[in-house]
Amino acid sequence: MKNNVTKTKYFTAEVKSGNQIVLNFGRKQSANTFGRMDFYSRILHSLSPDTERIWRPKQRLNVEIRGWPKSIRWQRTRELSFTGKIEKGTTLDIQAYSYTLEIALDSILEGTAAKNMAHIYTFYIDNKEDFSFVKYQFHSKARTIAALCVLYDLKPHPRNDLELNIQKKFGPQNKWPLDEDLDSYQRTYGDPSKTADELRNEGWPRFGDNTSMKVFRQVVIGTQQQMYQIEKREQTLSSRVPRTNISKKWRDELFESQNYTCQICLNKYDPTLLEPDHRIPVIYEADVLTEDNFKEKLMTLCRYCNQQKRETTKRLPPDYDWKSSPWAYPEKFDALRVKQGIERIAKRKNITFEEALQLFRK
Ligand SMILES: [Zn+2]
Repeated sequence: MKNNVTKTKYFTAEVKSGNQIVLNFGRKQSANTFGRMDFYSRILHSLSPDTERIWRPKQRLNVEIRGWPKSIRWQRTRELSFTGKIEKGTTLDIQAYSYTLEIALDSILEGTAAKNMAHIYTFYIDNKEDFSFVKYQFHSKARTIAALCVLYDLKPHPRNDLELNIQKKFGPQNKWPLDEDLDSYQRTYGDPSKTADELRNEGWPRFGDNTSMKVFRQVVIGTQQQMYQIEKREQTLSSRVPRTNISKKWRDELFESQNYTCQICLNKYDPTLLEPDHRIPVIYEADVLTEDNFKEKLMTLCRYCNQQKRETTKRLPPDYDWKSSPWAYPEKFDALRVKQGIERIAKRKNITFEEALQLFRK
């Protein structure tokens, strides 16, 4: 019986009763990483959106993330333990599997451990049809990896697909809120335009020689919708846009210097609703933040204006004049701010823009 147990540096694997495998992890970090990758792999090969755009189990592509084969369905049974059901008719060589998984976790966790570096996830997606594989390197942005999984079929997807609306039981088990008793609990996962931006920064550029992502509009079920499509699965590492990690100290200093006020809508917010924004997005201007220039290069935006900026600017041409753009320097464009101020009054008083404009002129 002893040879049914395999020890690796992250976990002990044990085969029970022929079709069950139990993994006991030594540390929470590796257990969480395992759970997260399981979530992505299920999006990749078995979750598909229904007509209401809720993601449900369904056969998709014949590919899998190396270390997370389709033939094992995992459930987190305790904080540090996962129980996997092995599909009937599949024989699993526990030692070979544990070894593969150990290497897979190595490449993900080693990047995470690297000091002073943006965290890098490295993993492989294997194509079972032609035995090819693609290697990916990601900064550890969960929603970006999930987005890649969504777009992996190279088909156009409406933006809602990137905002995954998933039933609780299919979610990343370490990340759900505490509403345990709500069985039908669903939640959305990710902010589509931010996600697409991150994907672009990870090596699926929208412009240039290596263009590999499209953003366009198309009529879906009678309404115009924003569509996203990647055109090749391979990441172009040379197109990756490195980003400086904005430290908490910089965030705090920036927000304080701008009096916790969103530079577009001029509303004052709690810091948790504020975000440091690159005035000129890093895709247009290299991101070289330093102690001396971060207050010039960044501005304080509220979450809502930041999203609006991303939504509006993501389809701008590569030669857009950012240096004289109100999106980069709103303080130089009072008209825009005035317009937004009026819109705010209209919304607050529940009146039309014209009525609010009259009030404003008085
Ligand atoms: Zn704002």
